[in-house]
Amino acid sequence: MPKITEEVYYIPGQDEFMPDAHTYVLGKPSSQDLSLIDAGLTGKGSYKIQSVQGAGFELSAIKRIIMTHTHLDHIGCLSEIRRQIPWAELWVHRLEADPLEQGDERAVYGMDMFREYCQEQLGLKPGVFKFQVNRKLDGGETLDLGKTAWEVIHIPGHSMGSIGLYHRPTKILIPGDVVYADYAIGRFDLYGADGPELKKSLMRLAELEVDILLPGHNQIVKALPKGYILKTAKQWEPYLR
Ligand SMILES: [Zn+2]
Ligand SMILES: [Zn+2]
Repeated sequence: MPKITEEVYYIPGQDEFMPDAHTYVLGKPSSQDLSLIDAGLTGKGSYKIQSVQGAGFELSAIKRIIMTHTHLDHIGCLSEIRRQIPWAELWVHRLEADPLEQGDERAVYGMDMFREYCQEQLGLKPGVFKFQVNRKLDGGETLDLGKTAWEVIHIPGHSMGSIGLYHRPTKILIPGDVVYADYAIGRFDLYGADGPELKKSLMRLAELEVDILLPGHNQIVKALPKGYILKTAKQWEPYLR
């Protein structure tokens, strides 16, 4: 499990025929107060848990799982992980927390076609993505995660309840699937997605000073070029209307 800084660790997604989101572990190890950011695809729970243990962390230190959003490649193995750490709280943006509590799986699968395919490929029964959410996030709050302060930014567009987490002192941004390396952005054709909203969210992120970009998939970027997010937003602008 690679270390990004003293308080940020990285479990790379294990993509196979479907993508598996990266999981980040936040918090100073000495704090005994760790947070997992995103779970991953169905079937990847033991890989994620073993990665945490392999790095020498105690599972008892994991206090919560925070979702950047609730697409299947991020939430698929949540119940596998929670079986190992049943005390861990679940924190989700309100706009995706409410459907999750009601068992409304449209935001999980994003598209009827995907729902049928994924249920068949991964052996998922209808209604398995129903969870009680311990804390509903709105955006604008600052979270104290293992003695580090992370700002929550609501960045809809890829999904309605997407959030970014920003650590101002080290200029680290965890944007979920909103922006990636190589000037890529998240898709905006799924349930709850919205091109113009995504553009606004990118512009919002472009205001932040970001040195390290830790997206939900593909490469992570250390020493992000200045103006990177703005340049990305500008490149995509013609499609986001
Ligand atoms: Zn997504
Ligand atoms: Zn994803």
